[in-house]
Amino acid sequence: MSTSPLLSLARPELLTLKPYAHAAWLPTLTRLHANEAPWRPEGDTTDAGLNRYPEPQPEALVSRLAALYGVPTSHLLAARGSDEAIDLLSRLYLREGRDAILQCTPTFGMYQVAARIQGADVVEMPLDRERSWSVDPERLIAAWRPNIKLVYLCSPNNPTANSLDTDALDAICTALDGKAIVVLDEAYIEWSRLPSLTPWLERFSTLAILRTLSKAHALAGARIGALIAHPDMIQLAKRIVPPYSLAQPTVEAALRALTPEAVAASQVRVADLMTEREYLRGRLAASPLVERVWPSDTNFLMIDSHDAGRFMRNTMAGGFIVRDLRGYPTLPNSLRISVGTRAQNDALIDSLETA
Ligand SMILES: *Cc1c(COP(=O)(O)O)cnc(C)c1O
Repeated sequence: MSTSPLLSLARPELLTLKPYAHAAWLPTLTRLHANEAPWRPEGDTTDAGLNRYPEPQPEALVSRLAALYGVPTSHLLAARGSDEAIDLLSRLYLREGRDAILQCTPTFGMYQVAARIQGADVVEMPLDRERSWSVDPERLIAAWRPNIKLVYLCSPNNPTANSLDTDALDAICTALDGKAIVVLDEAYIEWSRLPSLTPWLERFSTLAILRTLSKAHALAGARIGALIAHPDMIQLAKRIVPPYSLAQPTVEAALRALTPEAVAASQVRVADLMTEREYLRGRLAASPLVERVWPSDTNFLMIDSHDAGRFMRNTMAGGFIVRDLRGYPTLPNSLRISVGTRAQNDALIDSLETA
């Protein structure tokens, strides 16, 4: 057996698991081997036909995603959103009642939900509110124990909207390399001043990076994300991923959204949204209900409100829903607002004042 920490950290029973053998993918032959219907269903507008099982890990999509993120195809698994990638990591690395994750709170809720579903423990490392929600690498490294298999770092972070300091991330990746899977969630990286850290895959063997088409590529409804890591981890994840996890309409929608022209157009829209974010920041900051608008490297703004209840009620009366963050212990007056169109942002501000 290989001594790669990617394998030795994994649940040992998965290393010998015989994966499900899906029907062979031989697109030049007529498929009479998968018990599919030989006719198309009503309303089917796909190229491939909804009567057919989709291609597992579609080669065209994996190549497009790998090119988009600047990594070899061997380093990438296409998943049903980053949510599925988080679920796969949990199932690969966490043993019930023994293992744990470490997350920097407040952060994205799926890390701990996926860990708890797996029966694993959750260790929390608070981000420092007084220092712009930064992570303290020394404290984090000191908190690590051998049963902590996954260390989640969300940068830019949801819901605090800040990027984590690159030197801090470097120190954490350096100290924990080979000891834990360091999972860097870059769901919002397209809106960040800082570049993606995918080049670090060459430096750190147990680094995993999550990317998604849900935010910057406007495909949240299609459900596509990527797990990017050393090929050993990708091979391991392929053993447990459901064979037909990516639906055909989703794959075709993603391919249309990832042509060079479409990617260029979405880069322009991302840049425009950043300008709009700063407009919304200014308007929110001028509202008497708003105490503070936090800096943002994302497509949303986190605010502290003098009266978050009133903010929610007023905007709801105006037809808007914003995210209530008051359930987080360190965010007692905070709300999260996705940046909309100019018309939506102006109407949101109007609703604050008129209600
Ligand atoms: C929105 C978001 C995701 C994306 O999840 P998908 O399953 O790809 O839609 C991942 N991580 C964070 C922190 C997010 O906020």
